[in-house]
Amino acid sequence: MNKPKRYTITTALPYTNGPIHIGHLAGVYVPADIYARYLRLTGNDVAFIGGSDEHGVPITIKAKNEGVSPQDIVDKYHANIKQSFEDFGITYDNYSRTTAPIHHETASEFFKTLNDKGEFIEETSEQLYDAEANQFLADRFVVGTCPKCGNEESYGDQCENCGTSHNATDLINPKSAITGNVPTLKQTKHWFLPLDKHEAFLKEWILEGHKKDWKPNVYGQCKSWIDDGLRPRAVTRDLDWGIPVPAKGGEGKVLYVWFDAPIGYISSTKEWAAREGKDWELYWKDKDTKLVHFIGKDNIVFHCIIFPAMLKAEGSYILPENVPANEFLNLEGNKLSTSKNWAVWLPEYLKDFPGQQDVLRYALNANAPETKDNDFTWKDFQARNNNELVAIFGNFINRVVVLTNKYYEGTVPAPNHLDKVDQETLAAIKAYPAVIASSIERYRFREAGQELMNLARLGNKYLADAEPWKTIKVDAARTESIMYVALQIASALATLCEPFLPFTSEKLKNILNLTSNESVADGNDDNRVAATSWNEVTENDTLLPAGHQIGTAELLFSKIEDETIQNQLDKLEASKKANEIANATVEPQKETITFEDFTKLDIRVGTILEAEKMPKTKKLLKLKVDTGIDTRTIVSGIAESFSAEEVVGKRVSVLVNLAPRALRGVESQGMILMTETPDGKLVFVNPDDAEVSNGLQVS
Ligand SMILES: [Zn+2]
Repeated sequence: MNKPKRYTITTALPYTNGPIHIGHLAGVYVPADIYARYLRLTGNDVAFIGGSDEHGVPITIKAKNEGVSPQDIVDKYHANIKQSFEDFGITYDNYSRTTAPIHHETASEFFKTLNDKGEFIEETSEQLYDAEANQFLADRFVVGTCPKCGNEESYGDQCENCGTSHNATDLINPKSAITGNVPTLKQTKHWFLPLDKHEAFLKEWILEGHKKDWKPNVYGQCKSWIDDGLRPRAVTRDLDWGIPVPAKGGEGKVLYVWFDAPIGYISSTKEWAAREGKDWELYWKDKDTKLVHFIGKDNIVFHCIIFPAMLKAEGSYILPENVPANEFLNLEGNKLSTSKNWAVWLPEYLKDFPGQQDVLRYALNANAPETKDNDFTWKDFQARNNNELVAIFGNFINRVVVLTNKYYEGTVPAPNHLDKVDQETLAAIKAYPAVIASSIERYRFREAGQELMNLARLGNKYLADAEPWKTIKVDAARTESIMYVALQIASALATLCEPFLPFTSEKLKNILNLTSNESVADGNDDNRVAATSWNEVTENDTLLPAGHQIGTAELLFSKIEDETIQNQLDKLEASKKANEIANATVEPQKETITFEDFTKLDIRVGTILEAEKMPKTKKLLKLKVDTGIDTRTIVSGIAESFSAEEVVGKRVSVLVNLAPRALRGVESQGMILMTETPDGKLVFVNPDDAEVSNGLQVS
């Protein structure tokens, strides 16, 4: 397309059944925010649109488990997620939710339009049904084997392993997620979107039209689906949580969550336009608008196949220009998982690293899973902070500001003769906006972030080579020129870092005494000059004029110590342990025995009277036990879990008629009953009641 008149940027609607973690931020929200901020800085008309996805089966399951209403669940997590986005500087123009009345209206209207145009197939068919739960099973209510990849835990609508989207009836060996029963088939009516009817259009639009500009991972997934052949997809469900189907025969049914969720982008835009006095239709229906969807790879089919088919069928909407989907971010080598608590949750990060949002934004962007799955490690996070943000960016700024205050009482000096290196450096600054922009416009945000850091590197190297702390003693004029050039770099960084490090940009503008969005809002802009715009970094010869007064130094970043990183690793280790315990397999039952077999065991309640470690063994304690019958010696393999002192006085259960046997030369006359937890901790099996006296039988 020609240069767009405006941009509509959307981000995947986070599902409101839990908080946001770093995987979400890295995959979708940080790149989208970099893009939106960059476009605004370069003077574009932008609608950056988000919202919470609040319908669908998992929310009803979670509500049932917690004994609350689905509305309670979505209210809680909508507030939590919205707060995280604000905290991390994600600059939405509007953040809405799919339970909002405007969304119900918009989605309902959209469905009616398609229905009136005859774009759906109405069909009564046999669907999976759980008779015990009295419920049809779709989406996450049913699990089974994926017909494509063989994953045995595929959901009814999508396999999380291979990303394939399918119908619940396609699953092999389906099982109800509610009762575990094998479902039966029952007749029910649904509305289907005949994707096969749109195949020719999708082929032309994606396979021909976007061969060059869509990311290979996105294009490849689309091609594979189209090549497999598209089939009608049900867009309604037998459920009571969602948007009621606005058609005859739709009673008791709602719109499929994946039908209504992308329409949420439109309703959120409407909400924003109404508030701002804008025309929402320009942002969705004008051909000079560039629509870009930021999503994770699990959403590609919905944004590249199903939603465009819906928009096309409706007829008055534009289609996305690009869908720069990212792959997945892993954490310390393992897949991020909400249920296993294998994640770094944003609210928790902020508690542990207050005020350090930019460090996470920077580290996540530097490692973003743009072309393949990538790994977040705390060591890398620490290295990005210490070796790049602190050692390069922060160090450069700090030196410039400290020296300017020391030599010139904070006033930008006028340059004298500019050496070749000065001229080259000033010319290099001017090239950066275009270099960074080119990466951003091709959705290469990692590369863009590294280019920004290269500008800081340039500054650092310039100062280290020019050594103003040496020239100040011998050549005042030369020093003025050096500091002038260094201050120009600092000023360029303040502008160009904003998309990546928005909080740092704000701080740096304050230090340099430049007006920024915040200081204008404060009315606190005496003596300030305006920060240069993105384009002015290239166009203007002077970014920070001689004679301008800057403020005093303030640290932009601080070193993260090994101990802090170890705490995070310990947290993850604790999650891992908890998971191992939760997932420990239970031994299968042994062969059945008769009652007579059981009565042969004589188990008594006893008390340990004395205990001592057996010499030259690791595991064995020699115990004196009062069994009520007698006091006897028992050798027990518990020394790795208990010291001799701590078991004295313990009430225990003793198998007293076990044939005596010699252990390391000591005859053991019985056995203490123990159990072992999955992480290897031994626990005494003992009757926990004061009235139980030694010698009583366990039966
Ligand atoms: Zn699969």
